[in-house]
Amino acid sequence: MYLNSAVVVLVSVFCYVECACPDIISKSSWGARSPKKTKALRSTPPWIVVHHSDTPACNSRSACESRVKNIQTHHIDHNGWDDIGYNFLIGGDGNIYEGRGWGIHGAHVPRYNAKSIGICLIGDFQNTNPPSNQLQALENLIKCAGDTNKVTSNYRVIGHRQGGATKCPGDNLFNKIKTYSRWEPNPS
Ligand SMILES: [Zn+2]
Repeated sequence: MYLNSAVVVLVSVFCYVECACPDIISKSSWGARSPKKTKALRSTPPWIVVHHSDTPACNSRSACESRVKNIQTHHIDHNGWDDIGYNFLIGGDGNIYEGRGWGIHGAHVPRYNAKSIGICLIGDFQNTNPPSNQLQALENLIKCAGDTNKVTSNYRVIGHRQGGATKCPGDNLFNKIKTYSRWEPNPS
C-alpha cells in the first residue's frame, strides 16, 4: 500500500518535471471556424516542421488571436484548404494557439504533410529574431511532443525551407533551429 503510493508519487513527480506540456489555447478559445474536414495521420509522425507566418508579428493575446483568425481565413477562403494549414501557431505573446492539433494531417509543406507536425511562429524572421518568449514556447512545445509521444521517439526537426523552395522560416529563425539537438541537417 505505502509502496504503491510511493510509486505513484514518484511517477507523478517524474512526469511533472519531465512530461510537462505548455498550455495550448484551444481552437474554441480563439474563436476558430470549423474545419471543412479533418484527416487523421496514419501513424505517429517522425518530423516537426518549423515555419514563420511571413506576416506582421503580434505581441498580445488579442492581436495574436486576430492574426491566427486571419491566417485561418486566408488558408480556407484564399488557398481553398480544409482548415488553417499548421498544427500549432505561436505568437510573439508567448502563447501557443491550436491549429489542426496533434495527430492531424496538415497543409504546410507537401512532402511532409502526412508525416509531420507543423508549427508556425507568427512574424517574419528573415531579418529579425523571434522574441525569447516565442522561442521558449517553441522549445517547450517540441519537448512536450516528444515527452508525450505525439511524435516518434527518434523524431527530428527541420525548417520549411528544407522541404520546399521557400525562405520560410526566415534566416534568423532557421539559424536558431539549426542549434537544436534534434535538428536534421540532411532530411530524407
Ligand atoms: Zn513555411
